[in-house]
Amino acid sequence: MADCFYHPGRDAVGACVSCGKMVCLECRTILSSKIYCQPCADEIFSKGIASAKEAASTVKPAVGVSGVWWLLPIFLTWLGGLIAWLANKDKDPRKAKSMLWWGIGLTFIYGAIYALILGVFMLLGYGLELGL
Ligand SMILES: [Zn+2]
Ligand SMILES: [Zn+2]
Repeated sequence: MADCFYHPGRDAVGACVSCGKMVCLECRTILSSKIYCQPCADEIFSKGIASAKEAASTVKPAVGVSGVWWLLPIFLTWLGGLIAWLANKDKDPRKAKSMLWWGIGLTFIYGAIYALILGVFMLLGYGLELGL
């Protein structure tokens, strides 16, 4: 049996699958049921963290909420706001919430405009009636 690469005189229990160096029980690191030596395991671990960080930073802009969603609360008021909120609350909770509030707010604004127009027509109607 070969000696451990890091501990001459100590029996190796296996070879690192990455660099092929013989490792003893103490030097052996098992990652997903494969034997690695300590430096290789460290390297894989730090690379894994780096790539996870990279993935996290590159994923973010891609998940941004499209501005097209704003059309929903504008045209469908509270219903559109609700749809936009449900569709985007996982991607951008703040933006989704403001779309929902805009939808609710616009419902009142449109309602007020509608009531105003209705009121003007009613007044005109009364005016006509009085005129007759
Ligand atoms: Zn190795
Ligand atoms: Zn060793």
